[in-house]
Amino acid sequence: MSDSTHVCSPGRPTSRRAFVLGVALAVVAAAGGGCASAGGVAASSTPRNIIIMFGDGAAPTQWDFGRYSSRVLRGQSFATTDVVFREGTVGLLTTSPHGPYVTDSAAAASAMSTGVKVENGAISVAPDGKPLRTVMQAAKAAGKRIGLVTTATVYDATPAAFAVNAKSRRDSQVLVDLIRALEPDVLMGGGADYFLPEAVPGGKRKDGRDVIAEFRARGYQVARNTAELNAAAGAKLLALFADDDMDFEVDRDPVKEPTTAEMAAAALKALAQQSPNGFVLLVENENIDTAGHINDASALMRALWAFDDAVKVALEFQRRNPDTLVVVTGDHETGGFSPTYALKDLSSIASSNRFYAGDEQLRMLGGITMSFTMLVEKLGKTPTGETLDALLAKHFPGFRLDPDLRQLILERKALDRSHSYVPQNALGRMIARQTAYYWGTSGHTPEPVAVGAVGPGAELFRGFQDNTDFGRHLHRLILGK
Ligand SMILES: [Zn+2]
Repeated sequence: MSDSTHVCSPGRPTSRRAFVLGVALAVVAAAGGGCASAGGVAASSTPRNIIIMFGDGAAPTQWDFGRYSSRVLRGQSFATTDVVFREGTVGLLTTSPHGPYVTDSAAAASAMSTGVKVENGAISVAPDGKPLRTVMQAAKAAGKRIGLVTTATVYDATPAAFAVNAKSRRDSQVLVDLIRALEPDVLMGGGADYFLPEAVPGGKRKDGRDVIAEFRARGYQVARNTAELNAAAGAKLLALFADDDMDFEVDRDPVKEPTTAEMAAAALKALAQQSPNGFVLLVENENIDTAGHINDASALMRALWAFDDAVKVALEFQRRNPDTLVVVTGDHETGGFSPTYALKDLSSIASSNRFYAGDEQLRMLGGITMSFTMLVEKLGKTPTGETLDALLAKHFPGFRLDPDLRQLILERKALDRSHSYVPQNALGRMIARQTAYYWGTSGHTPEPVAVGAVGPGAELFRGFQDNTDFGRHLHRLILGK
């Protein structure tokens, strides 16, 4: 298809049937005189529904890692790169917050939700203290239904900044109260702790309130595990699967916690009901970011696959409902992730002593059966060499722990000034030395993030832009201007 046709089409078609549909819609749009030139949005390209698929901590390096690891290790295409980026529109976003170059998730999500730069730690509140209108507030005002889905706590920085306004991302109880007042039609993820009073197991609220009961009283169905989620059929849904964050995919108990794809499907089922003006849904996988912080390449790989399976659910919904815009993006890069090459040992710096990250190294990552988080939990506060060796032998087959890293782990010392997750970053270095999947930091980096879009309005996200442009585009599309 030519670019001029593509401007008005709901993303480049992916099948014969979708191709016919895409052309038909483009013809309808052109006949109505509503076809916009690049950068403009006409009424005909205003989406009814918007699905924002959000890989926290994912930038192009992560997406590409997801693509080739999915192909090699599970024989599956990776929809984010292979469908959304390849067949939709693709762009890059700069991510710096108000002040420094490196953003946190609160400032990044605030910019992407409000179109304004804020300071790190702020939840959609400007540097001068003024609250800024969020995507979900705008959607609600436009009569749309709204949903927030995450593998983190539902009051974590990203869902919070897309929904409400608060000076600090750390005020968990306040954030839950603000989200409750906004009344998202779907609210799903971890973080039951700040919904329940301290007196209840897992509860952390200081005011004795049971906010889950309050949601139920407002007509919400409540799900606390996978079976309850699958049985949910109502239009309003509160689903909390963990007291804190949900588990890494590699550690997940499928009875207790659903996949990101199952959550996305349940959210779409609920939101598509009773929605004359459509909906806006945010689906976040936070484990991509968490795996980056702890430098866990194997957990990152599975988190990317879990996220991508949810992207497939969103794309399938978009195919059946072409008036839906699907946007796939991240907020910042986490970990300075560097698939590279390395020396097999330090006996020689000759290139003959070098190996490259390739299929063999990927298979080593594929053989790992536990996240660093779970391993550290099992090690306990005062780890012994025997427990460490036993856990590594069982769950990290083929990996050897060099004496310097072993010492760092047992003495609980930081790997470097830029690697402050103890002892996880030392485990990350163990993996890196044998696979060449290195990490530059345990924090965030300013690498621009990729954004891909399919559906009406997708054209706005093309090219090199700033994360505030992303927020402005969403508000414009919600307002239908
Ligand atoms: Zn982070």
